Amino acid sequence: MNRVPFVDLQAQIRPLQPQLLAATERVLQSSQYCLGPEVEAFEAEFGAMHETLYAVGVSSGTAALHLALQAAGVGPGDEVVTSPLTFVATAAAIRYVGARPVYADVEEHTGTLCPSAVEAALSPRTRALLPVHLHGQPGRLSELREVARKHNLLLIEDACQAHLARHHGQPVGTFGLAAAFSFYPAKNLGACGEAGLLVTNEPDVAEQARELRDWGQSRKYQHDRFGHNYRMDALQAAFLRVKLPHLSAWTSARQRLAQRYDELLSELPLTLPGRTPENEPVFHLYAVRVENRDEVKEQLHARGVDCGIHYPVPVHMQPAYRDPAFPPGSFPVAEGIARTTLSLPLFPELTEGQQDRVAAALREVLA
Ligand SMILES: *Cc1c(COP(=O)(O)O)cnc(C)c1O
Repeated sequence: MNRVPFVDLQAQIRPLQPQLLAATERVLQSSQYCLGPEVEAFEAEFGAMHETLYAVGVSSGTAALHLALQAAGVGPGDEVVTSPLTFVATAAAIRYVGARPVYADVEEHTGTLCPSAVEAALSPRTRALLPVHLHGQPGRLSELREVARKHNLLLIEDACQAHLARHHGQPVGTFGLAAAFSFYPAKNLGACGEAGLLVTNEPDVAEQARELRDWGQSRKYQHDRFGHNYRMDALQAAFLRVKLPHLSAWTSARQRLAQRYDELLSELPLTLPGRTPENEPVFHLYAVRVENRDEVKEQLHARGVDCGIHYPVPVHMQPAYRDPAFPPGSFPVAEGIARTTLSLPLFPELTEGQQDRVAAALREVLA
């Protein structure tokens, strides 16, 4: 029998191939390969879908995070409070602007930043909060916005895994000054290469981000700001425009499959992804927690089911990100999740038959 893959990008590309090839041809013939009309059209379409006034297409989610922090004026001497349970790009972006990542522990239930731990991590140097909507689960945005307001801090969202997720009915990315989305191929909306986007409702942040992504130019060869080469490729924008109209249906498919996993796995000795009444998560990943995680993963592999681990080592324990203020053991909840988390196969095209095989294999392994 075929294996159940952890993710199957081809399953999404195959039916769209004619449109993707037509988009390729359109861009090839346009002679406009960096920024330009395809990027502008994608920005407008994605911004409308996310109910934000401004959308700025860039070369990656990391670039979007970096520009959000730079446009917000975060810099050397500042601290930004973020989650240790994330992809390293979140902390890297903080360091790119010369600021210091300060971590706070996450909540057991959702794996996202705990508002009271955030408050305990504040110092006179804190400038911003950078919550991560881990696996497509929105962070505690209402509470964090309140913490930010009370202490006069900026709120910037790492929404790289959370396209179309909602909190209290409102799309993520609209709760603070700005937010970053990623279109890395495996994300819920994936390019055929690297791409990202910054959203904001602040005209000044949007204007700065537009200049900063293109070498800080206000007009050609006028470099008013110290910028970067973070332009979005027209080809990626054209691909993303083919895919964007399907995002809503793909998201519903992820949510439906996640609900079905909840039901199939409810009797097993593992912890399912947390649910909260205020959140509509979009399940970039469906991650359960299980003791002997590595062994379970291996045994599932032996039964033809491929799983992933996101993320095995929290950021504060990564060699390149160590800070003497946060030795191992500083964030017991995040560290516990990192030790036990196991991402099951989940992508919009996953069939119920495949899902049943995942559940059956898990049942056997955990028996
Ligand atoms: C993917 C990701 C990023 C970085 O996005 P890239 O497009 O790969 O640069 C940042 N933060 C989180 C949480 C991510 O998952």
